[in-house]
Amino acid sequence: MAKSDFRKNEMMFVEVTGEGVKCVEAVKVNGEGLHNLIKGVVGDGKEIRFLLDNWVTCDPLKAKFPLLFNLEKDERVCVNDRFSVDVGKFDGLWQWARRLVNRGELMEIEELNNLLEGITTGNKPDKWLWLGGKDNLMTVRDVKPSLLGNKDFSNGYVVVWCKWIPKKCNLFMWRAAMDRIPTKLALKARDCFSNHLTCVLCGDGGESIDHLFCECGMAARIWHAISSWCNIPPFFIFSIKDLLEFHEILGKNKTKKNALKGIIMISCWYIWKSRNEIIFNNFSVSATEIIQNIKSLGFLWYKVEENIIV
Ligand SMILES: [Zn+2]
Repeated sequence: MAKSDFRKNEMMFVEVTGEGVKCVEAVKVNGEGLHNLIKGVVGDGKEIRFLLDNWVTCDPLKAKFPLLFNLEKDERVCVNDRFSVDVGKFDGLWQWARRLVNRGELMEIEELNNLLEGITTGNKPDKWLWLGGKDNLMTVRDVKPSLLGNKDFSNGYVVVWCKWIPKKCNLFMWRAAMDRIPTKLALKARDCFSNHLTCVLCGDGGESIDHLFCECGMAARIWHAISSWCNIPPFFIFSIKDLLEFHEILGKNKTKKNALKGIIMISCWYIWKSRNEIIFNNFSVSATEIIQNIKSLGFLWYKVEENIIV
């Protein structure tokens, strides 16, 4: 996988949309809401949300123009939805719930027109700047130390098992949470490995637990697919323990939380299984195959458990 693709995949974790906004707003970096530290730079305008993301100023337009925001029918529109295709400029076409009538609304639209004058869209993809570090580039490595300050990394961390998935998946997660699976970096630390340390799934980065399940380009694709499949906001994770707690933030009720928890555990177990197939059996495994198999196993095991309970 090319380095640029990897960067793009990393950004999947920080897409700030809908419920994702709440999730990201809750995350603080040095006391600052994480969403305040991410700013879009307009390219083709297809990724940046016109009203919800920070892009023209350091606040989203919904905060700067609350009256207009209240009248917009589709709050998730992207920048290119509101810019003319022909000239790439703001065209003022909104999906208003009604016409603008009062003075406050008219003043806001005038101010917005002034603000967006001179901004154009182009052909290159949108970019995201990380305002919390040097070079304005966001990498997992940059943000991780700030975010992990209040996490429990002691051996006392308890993995609560998921009952509807096989014991082998629960056991695997328990060992992974304690950093007890034999990744290349773990083996090297114990003087048991001297070959290349590169991750075989993405070919980029040393193979550690956090890399395999959080930083890896392959993992990013998998989590992106899983979030779409489960109809939840994109994952925002920096460590294996984030994965183990993620269902609590985004699961809508107890049943869905339990289902999401199991799917995440199956995914981790299957990522490790695929990694072993590549290393020990010389198989080539694609992200699409892994995602399909995770979905099939998840569906099958969930149904089996459901039938047992019924
Ligand atoms: Zn990797």
